[in-house]
Amino acid sequence: MTILVDMDGPLADFEKGFLKQWQIVFPNERFIPLEERTTFRIQDQYGLKLHDKIRAVYSAPGFYRQLPIIPGAKEALTQLTEKGHNLRICTSPLTEYKNCVLEKYQWVEENLGSSFIKRIIVTKDKTLIRGDLLIDDNPTITGVYSPVWEHILFDKPYNRAPKHDKRLDDWFNWETVLLNG
Ligand SMILES: [Mg+2]
Repeated sequence: MTILVDMDGPLADFEKGFLKQWQIVFPNERFIPLEERTTFRIQDQYGLKLHDKIRAVYSAPGFYRQLPIIPGAKEALTQLTEKGHNLRICTSPLTEYKNCVLEKYQWVEENLGSSFIKRIIVTKDKTLIRGDLLIDDNPTITGVYSPVWEHILFDKPYNRAPKHDKRLDDWFNWETVLLNG
């Protein structure tokens, strides 16, 4: 199978990294604990007044590179490749690309290993990419095509409201979710 795996959410813990940096850079602003996050986009829950500060945090140099890895992700990806699956990391960069794109590559090298660099696909539109499965924490993925892959939602507190048939709760049970239909 060709398995596409989104990066922010399923592999790199964007939310945890954001909250940590948010509290360091803006210690006097309110913050939302991870379990209480209810919207896919951080800005939508923090409110309009904080948009510029939020953007400043996640587009700062070093932000992407410091994101912690999701537990079990490296082991699961390694097993998937060892089983012969055609694995790709399919990621949408920020429009403020300057730090984000380079640091995504650095993150993959440092957290997954240099053998995964050639598996990175950077695209703003994931419907253009072919594959059997896409594992992604975004509940609504749209683009110019109707996708050929099946979307498996990587479970997060902020994507629990929309109904979704197939969810992957964490990387420790990927085998049951991905291979048993
Ligand atoms: Mg994501």
